[in-house]
Amino acid sequence: MEEAKHFIGGGWAAASGGETIAVIDPSDGETFAQIARGTPADIDSAVAAARAAFAGEWGQSSAAERGRVLYRLSMLVAACHEELAQIEARDTGKPLKQAHADAAALARYFEFYAGAADKLHGETLPYQSGYTVLTIREPHGVTGHIVPWNYPMQIFGRSVGAALAAGNACVVKPAEDACLSVLRVAALAAEAGLPPGALNIVTGFGHEAGAALARHPGIDHISFTGSPETGKLVAQMAAENHVPVTLELGGKSPQIVFADADLDAALPTLVSAIVQNAGQTCSAGSRVLIERAVYEPLLERLAARFRELRVGPSRADLDCGPLISAKQQRRVWDFLSDAQHDGIPMAAHGEVVGDAPESGFYQAPALLRDVPPAHRLAREEVFGPVLAALPFDDENEAVALANGTPYGLVAGIWTRDGARQLRLARRVRSGQVFINNYGAGGGVELPFGGVGHSGHGREKGFEALYGFTVLKTIAIKHG
Ligand code: NAD
Repeated sequence: MEEAKHFIGGGWAAASGGETIAVIDPSDGETFAQIARGTPADIDSAVAAARAAFAGEWGQSSAAERGRVLYRLSMLVAACHEELAQIEARDTGKPLKQAHADAAALARYFEFYAGAADKLHGETLPYQSGYTVLTIREPHGVTGHIVPWNYPMQIFGRSVGAALAAGNACVVKPAEDACLSVLRVAALAAEAGLPPGALNIVTGFGHEAGAALARHPGIDHISFTGSPETGKLVAQMAAENHVPVTLELGGKSPQIVFADADLDAALPTLVSAIVQNAGQTCSAGSRVLIERAVYEPLLERLAARFRELRVGPSRADLDCGPLISAKQQRRVWDFLSDAQHDGIPMAAHGEVVGDAPESGFYQAPALLRDVPPAHRLAREEVFGPVLAALPFDDENEAVALANGTPYGLVAGIWTRDGARQLRLARRVRSGQVFINNYGAGGGVELPFGGVGHSGHGREKGFEALYGFTVLKTIAIKHG
């Protein structure tokens, strides 16, 4: 059985405590590999290696050189596309076609940040006469990255790609539930010419390796993606050392459908935005708010689509794979049993295929209608393939419902009325707004992040590069 090690200082290292964690295939519940159970001592080693790289070759490299390394990495990821997709599909349970999309996105992250590395610059500022004032953007130093299990490759790429392009050295703690693809990419990074120590991966549990990273005094910035509860803990630990954090914490993203919308165009997107990755997507469109005039007809069409959805092992490549773990399955069941107990009608559900192993963590996608706005199903992140439908009567009510959760990550607005599109885009409290489309986070070019309990700071685009740098102001008096 494969036993994966940490990647520290350019080489592979077993956990200092000698312990491992079982890697479970969500499609059948079987253990198929082991990963190292990282300790605080392992995090110490990784941070020391990163500090040395930042003080040495990597820290001295020019922006153009960093861009070239990232471009080579992007090419290597593209060349290993099939292998990476296979690893990700087995580790997370996601259908192969989704894993292929993730591998392509990973290559694109490195490609984008390769090109961006030497386009990042400061400004000159007007000041008193006799002065020249300029700003420069410097890397933080050593950045810590805590990555979740839903999109291990993609979230690794978006965070580490930007951090490396900006000149930081990185220490990554991927999720214990899925991290094999990230370890494979670390080997590719070395092959691409990334100097030893510029990228370090320590696997392990969150409360051990993750917490050790978040509170480490040798870290200069922390980027975290995961649950709001853990995000709060990470921010508290980082605050002990006055370390800035970027938090990406999920959402309860609404899709608002007006009666004048192109329903044919909206329908497939409304379904895919919640079914993608079995709903385990921070930007999943998990609420659909429908203007009452089209509530029943649209629900009928949505229900017909939900009945067609098929769930099975990742290799079967159906609409949905299993959920990541038995724990996540229990969480989704808990929401659904609350809904049943509270009399919320199930409009339709998909089907788990007959030959899906019983030991896998399957959940049929479910469409629930007439969900009361105050119910937890309308307010809390399920992180499963569960879509909550709510009717509304006018624009004000649509906005109140859309903004009626503590989250604010992504919103979709479906209407042909141009003035309403812009009015709502401004009134909805959200980091991203999609009009007559829904991007589930969008491409690498588009800044992404939340407000409220969805977190703060921005990933992707140039905004991420700004986040991974510190602005220094230099004032020169020359008379
Ligand atoms: P989590 O937030 O606990 O885990 C995310 C990452 O944080 C993992 O790498 C984990 O090891 C690490 N971590 C956990 N505890 C830590 C700690 N004390 N200090 C430092 N790092 C720590 O998420 P989870 O328990 O895997 O999932 C729970 C819920 O979180 C899910 O049901 C879902 O609602 C949400 N979630 C959201 C996202 C997202 O992309 N926004 C991703 C995963 C999970």
